[in-house]
Amino acid sequence: MDSNLKKLKICIIGAGMGGLTTALALAKRGFEDIHVFEFAKDLGFVGAGIQLAPNMARILDRLGVWADIEREAVILKDTSIRQGSTDEELANVDLGYVHSTYGYAHMVGHRSSLAGSIYAGCQRESAIKFHFSTSASGVETFAPKVSFVATPKDGEPYRVECDVLLGADGVKSKTRVELLKTINATAEVEDSGQAAYRIMLTREEMQHDPELLKLIDSDRATRWIGEKRHIIAYPVASKTIYNISTAQPDTNFAAAPSATYTTKGSKPEMLSVYADFCPMIQRMLNLVPEGEVCEWKLRVHQPLPTWVHGSVALVGDSCHPTLPHLAQGAAQAIEDAAVLGVVLARLPDTTAESINKALRVYETVRKERAEMLVALAASSGKAMHLGEGAAKEERDKQFAKFREGGKGDVPDKWADANVQKQMYGHDCMEVAEETFAEEFGKL
Ligand SMILES: Cc1cc2nc3c(=O)[nH]c(=O)nc-3n(C[C@H](O)[C@H](O)[C@H](O)COP(=O)(O)OP(=O)(O)OC[C@H]3O[C@@H](n4cnc5c(N)ncnc54)[C@H](O)[C@@H]3O)c2cc1C
Repeated sequence: MDSNLKKLKICIIGAGMGGLTTALALAKRGFEDIHVFEFAKDLGFVGAGIQLAPNMARILDRLGVWADIEREAVILKDTSIRQGSTDEELANVDLGYVHSTYGYAHMVGHRSSLAGSIYAGCQRESAIKFHFSTSASGVETFAPKVSFVATPKDGEPYRVECDVLLGADGVKSKTRVELLKTINATAEVEDSGQAAYRIMLTREEMQHDPELLKLIDSDRATRWIGEKRHIIAYPVASKTIYNISTAQPDTNFAAAPSATYTTKGSKPEMLSVYADFCPMIQRMLNLVPEGEVCEWKLRVHQPLPTWVHGSVALVGDSCHPTLPHLAQGAAQAIEDAAVLGVVLARLPDTTAESINKALRVYETVRKERAEMLVALAASSGKAMHLGEGAAKEERDKQFAKFREGGKGDVPDKWADANVQKQMYGHDCMEVAEETFAEEFGKL
């Protein structure tokens, strides 16, 4: 890489999956002056599981951090979609083919293992400097230099000037708000009307119940569906923890200010939401210690008119927050990061004009795909949450057809082989490499 290019000062706001991977991808390409500003005092691991899809694994492997994640991850052999009320199986979908078809198995893991390994990868790169306990916002200029304000928790605000700013500041992104305001555009936060409980049960908590023990010992993601609700669960951390995530109508946040996203949930209320699910699920939810019920509001956003202005670009949930029903939110943030690595490393010079063009190539490669998957996650949720009526009958016929023949569409799109092909078969870095010259030349 050209020495002037290496010296570009690149700032990243946010050390979530998107920000961390962006920093690592840029350092691996040879950039030497990368700064990550994170509001929290450390990574503040959320105690929850996460699906490690092949399109995520492929990128992390290239960045040299996959082996540590893989070691603790659980390989899913199949997924079972079941009627929540009866535990009757609607479809069983083989996931064993995923490894041979896409080069990586479909795995699930602990969020701390994923974020911790990417962070450890960043720490091995002298080019990356972390600024924790520092809030960054107030972008004043977008080009030729970008300037914004960094405010340490216990210090005076100071101005930062850089060549490229990447806003990986999550669904509540201030960078997004500032960028849209500057171009006189709007894109509203959409209320999904859904909230999620996220629960982790330990093997010790489950081991006295043979049916529950079977679940944690399995190599399976199980989804129990019902009207307006579902539960998805799988073992993580070498099967020492059973990770449970739900989706149900949002009642607690509906009247709350939009700044609130998580809250301590009430166990009796959680039990009542799933009161008509089968006895085994009742027993499972009952194991959750009182006071450890955490509820998240699920937020989405209208597609943005653009992700880029001047030398500033948005990354991850800041520009394409999604419902979790395809388990692709972090995977898509990681794809953003990988593509940024490709396009910025191919800059022909360090002018603000070229930086803007490269960022627009990033947008071309990423925006349509990410937004297609956001829309698909929403429609899959609708299909899973159907109540009695013709649409549900039609859906259940599709499940039955699949069950009988082992082929055809699966209404839970996450488990559908054609959708998996779109998600896992896409190599975003290859696409970026192949199309860069042509797309850059067009701008
Ligand atoms: C219930 C649920 C289940 C999910 N399951 C999966 C799954 O199985 N697989 C998957 O791939 N995805 C999953 N996701 C989605 C995934 O968690 C997110 O899409 C992903 O974590 C987004 O990463 P991010 O880096 O864009 O944003 P975030 O993780 O939100 O990170 C943003 C960071 O920016 C920091 N920040 C914000 N503002 C500032 C500021 N002004 N200054 C400094 N720092 C700031 C924040 O503190 C935060 O650390 C799930 C999501 C939910 C809700």
